[in-house]
Amino acid sequence: MSNEVDTIVLSQQDIDRMSEYGIPPHMHDGLTAYFNDHRPVGDFLTLILQNDFVTAAAHADDMNKHALYAYCRWLFMCSPARIHGVWGSKEAVQRWHKIGREKAERILCTVCEEVAVKREGELCSECLTAQAERDWDERNGH
Ligand SMILES: [Zn+2]
Repeated sequence: MSNEVDTIVLSQQDIDRMSEYGIPPHMHDGLTAYFNDHRPVGDFLTLILQNDFVTAAAHADDMNKHALYAYCRWLFMCSPARIHGVWGSKEAVQRWHKIGREKAERILCTVCEEVAVKREGELCSECLTAQAERDWDERNGH
């Protein structure tokens, strides 16, 4: 799929809907962390996110057993995320976790700590330029 995304940020409204629709409270953090932080979640939730509700039902605790429809409803709201490869199949879930691992392993610019760089201790091009400008000003007595 060419329209896959690598970042999702659930809104407060999305999170509020978990309670509203009846997703058990002990699942809210995991569900949010899966989408926002690419975090691996338990067997049951993984199966839900893989769109395998039949197997998920077999793994459900007493609360989740009665909440399968709530997950359907909530995930229906997240259907754009499904189209973008964030959930909906085993492959989508694996891809989402892989992106998370890659993000965690990324080496960041030592100054802004936002832009990925190739080696530890390196600066991104923007911070390098800013540093060069400061050096120039210092040398020229500003
Ligand atoms: Zn930087």
